[in-house]
Amino acid sequence: MAKIINVIKGTKDILPQEAGAWQKLEETALEVFSKYGYHEIRTPIFEATELFARGVGDTTDIVKKELYTFEQSDRSLTMRREKTAGVVRSFIENGMSRLSPPVKLWYKGPMFRYERPQAGRQRQFHQVGVEMFGVKQPAADAEVILLAVNYLKALGLNDLEVEINSLGCPACREAYKAKIKEVLKPEFENLCEDCQTRYEKNPLRLLDCKVESCKAIFEKPEIKKVIQSDFICEECAVHFSTLKSYLDKTGIKYVENKLLVRGLDYYNRTVFEIKSNNLGSQNAVCGGGRYDSLVRNLGGEDTPAVGWAMGMERLNSLLPEVPVSKIDAYIVSTSPADAFELAEELRAAGKSVEFDLANKKFTKQLEKASKVANYALILGEDEIKANKVSVKNLETSEQKTVSRDMVLSLI
Ligand code: ATP
Ligand code: MG
Repeated sequence: MAKIINVIKGTKDILPQEAGAWQKLEETALEVFSKYGYHEIRTPIFEATELFARGVGDTTDIVKKELYTFEQSDRSLTMRREKTAGVVRSFIENGMSRLSPPVKLWYKGPMFRYERPQAGRQRQFHQVGVEMFGVKQPAADAEVILLAVNYLKALGLNDLEVEINSLGCPACREAYKAKIKEVLKPEFENLCEDCQTRYEKNPLRLLDCKVESCKAIFEKPEIKKVIQSDFICEECAVHFSTLKSYLDKTGIKYVENKLLVRGLDYYNRTVFEIKSNNLGSQNAVCGGGRYDSLVRNLGGEDTPAVGWAMGMERLNSLLPEVPVSKIDAYIVSTSPADAFELAEELRAAGKSVEFDLANKKFTKQLEKASKVANYALILGEDEIKANKVSVKNLETSEQKTVSRDMVLSLI
């Protein structure tokens, strides 16, 4: 026998018995996001490498290590690691800034990151997310957070924690960065390798570190004091407190977390995450924030924006299993020609119908019917001659023979 080829490490098949839960995630997204006026956008899986390099900022060596990049006809192309950069590219390229704001978009699809695979972390995984362009006011931040919470509620997920923080604007953040560097200087040697890189290039990113020894350093009183200090300017503070007042008004519970800075450099002001206690260490379901400078950085007009993305594998593991649904009817017959005819008639009327395509014995067909269908439609020789069908309810075993045109009303 030929050698078996296996799925690539860090990637997974979504098998038919799992597909129901995925369909629920996608259908609920369409349903909930439509209520808020969001429209779906689908962008390509690979883009020019430069889009990600420029999009995520130059400090993100750690992110660059994660990219799947390949050359094709002398061009460097990269598989998307997230969708925001591609959506922003499309927003600019298609002149969406000329539409009256806000422009509200949502998406779903696979993302690619060369990370260490573990529970809740894959190399190909899926995200569902939203982006809103054109509103600088905190009502936009509030709406996207509300939307995230209501999507989770619609999925039956209520016991999740919303964490928020404000990173201020580039102006007020500089002094804070300097203070963080200063207080962490004596600890430099004790920081993890990634944090040592981040220290020079973007010290705020340190606060996001998941390494226990780094987390312990941030807990030291003199360091914690600096991290917890209020550094944002008056305007940013008003933005943040207005956002909180809207969240209070809509009854969304949240906690403020000064360590929440998010992985990418383009965020300003609001950042947020939604976490679950039932996910082990990869506990973030949703991450997002405001990114007012990204559209300009990627060549567009100055356009404020805010959005979030959720990991669909992590959402999935919080949902109960959705059983594979049965078809309406399975035709048990020794005459494929008659079975074809009846099946097509019922399918045209909206029913899901199958029958045996391989000349199996009658009893085998009945066995199959009871596994996959709610009704067996028996088309034996007698039935065919009399233009009748025996309809068997496979749950109650009740059976009656009726004229062919009655079948539709019985299943
Ligand atoms: P994490 O801190 O878990 O690495 P992140 O900040 O890198 O997350 P984002 O880029 O904000 O994640 O993506 C949003 C969501 O996508 C995350 O909250 C998570 O649910 C999911 N996610 C991110 N990376 C992965 C991955 N490698 N495998 C599965 N899900 C992921
Ligand atoms: Mg990550």
